[in-house]
Amino acid sequence: MPDLFIGGRWRAASGGGTREVRCPADGSLVGTVDEASTPDTLAAIGAAREAFDQGPWPGLPIAERAAVLTRVADLLERDRAAIARAESLDTGKRLVESGYDVDDVVSVFRHYATVVSDEPRTVDTGRPDVRSVVVHEPVGVCGLITPWNYPLLQTSWKVAPALVAGCTFVLKPSELTPHTAIHLVRILEEAGVPPGVANLVLGAGPAAGAPLAEDPRVDLLSFTGGLGTGKQLMAAASGTVKKVALELGGKNPNIVFADADLEAALDLALTAVFLHSGQVCSAGARLLVQEDLHDRFVDELVARAGRIRLGGPFDEQAETGPLTSAAHRDKVEAHVAAGIAEGAVLRCGGRRPDDPALADGFYYLPTVLDGCTSSMSVTSEESFGPVLTVETFVDEDEAVALANDSIFGLAGAVWTADEALAQRVAARLRVGTVWVNDYHPYVAQAEWGGYKQSGIGRELGAAGLDEYRETKHVWTNTAPAPQHWFRPAPER
Ligand code: NAD
Repeated sequence: MPDLFIGGRWRAASGGGTREVRCPADGSLVGTVDEASTPDTLAAIGAAREAFDQGPWPGLPIAERAAVLTRVADLLERDRAAIARAESLDTGKRLVESGYDVDDVVSVFRHYATVVSDEPRTVDTGRPDVRSVVVHEPVGVCGLITPWNYPLLQTSWKVAPALVAGCTFVLKPSELTPHTAIHLVRILEEAGVPPGVANLVLGAGPAAGAPLAEDPRVDLLSFTGGLGTGKQLMAAASGTVKKVALELGGKNPNIVFADADLEAALDLALTAVFLHSGQVCSAGARLLVQEDLHDRFVDELVARAGRIRLGGPFDEQAETGPLTSAAHRDKVEAHVAAGIAEGAVLRCGGRRPDDPALADGFYYLPTVLDGCTSSMSVTSEESFGPVLTVETFVDEDEAVALANDSIFGLAGAVWTADEALAQRVAARLRVGTVWVNDYHPYVAQAEWGGYKQSGIGRELGAAGLDEYRETKHVWTNTAPAPQHWFRPAPER
């Protein structure tokens, strides 16, 4: 069965292209999928445009679209095991993690199936002869481009609000991890999403994704991925002044004060950076530890990092998995080498594992670099791998200054027993999410997104829906009469 979904039909790529998808854990072939090129994406945009302009979807009562989302959530739950398996094969992440990801995807669809209202807001103009209402309308055709680290989850943050808002879309998932997007689109079809509303193109960014930024028929581009790609797409989108939502990278500070609950802070410092081998946009990759605590905390952290067990998705003893590709591992290796050249002290990791059983996968050992400063490239740029940099601070002001000394502003955490200190630091951090005495949890009800170069706009929560809605003010004069601002016609 072909893998591109355009105008309600499954099709092969017009140019006959295909791509092999390989599991990062061992290089085995997961599947061969159709590889779109620009004409396929242009056809998908045309189908989405037609479905928006002429189809029933945007005009349906919102309750009907919400009911479709509920059916999607039910079908995702039905297929949980198959989707989790597909996600693990594409990404190499542990099966149990992929299962949690599917649960999160379900919660995103359920959230947007229940919270949305399209009640107009009446504005008091102070004039009895005027009815003034503000209404929300779907933004139109959306181009949705997603990355490989949480393939289905990042997709759901876009697809669920786009659908419930009444938009139509063209989805372009990462070429490295296409299988769960295919499964999702099959589910959308089964749940009753009309033809042309949901379109899927698979393929490389420049050929299959770039037209979504450039084409005037697309009203909104929502992109999750790397900073460099985001900048390119934003520039391309400016040609048609389309709306742009960007979820980009992070280099997220995890601040530990000496009075913190050390056992919890240590445990979560490991999770913060080594979960999914650091391939998490909100990874706590920058440890800022109060000077007095440094030796004790970092010694124990290094000892525990050295014991983390690597393995493939179906190895039940494994605690984390491989990097996504050989090219990505090369990038992480180069980043660590640059950090060491700049003066960082390698405390553990910094190389591939010796275990011959892992030789065919793209594994890299959990790595801790001590003695870092915020000017080093390894501290200021995103590694997107299992690499923790360690800096020290003396007091609150220095911790905040270091944490904010970054082009990024996605997320961060503060650990302390002093609630007032925690809330002060939380207020001073220039990031979109702050965890106090915790790391990584998020919920569909709360907004997610970045300050500074971590992005534009928000996903999830109410703001995550508003990205997909236009706001229109309708002013109705119920007793029209001439105003005579200009002189009326002269009498003959
Ligand atoms: P990437 O930018 O290489 O690719 C992301 C997507 O963009 C892929 O689908 C890719 O095919 C597409 N793409 C690449 N070049 C393109 C082009 N010229 N035109 C159109 N599309 C193009 O990023 P990645 O390596 O897949 O993902 C990792 C990055 O994503 C990291 O920087 C990470 O921080 C970020 N990320 C951010 C969040 C967040 O919520 N802020 C979440 C997950 C990942």
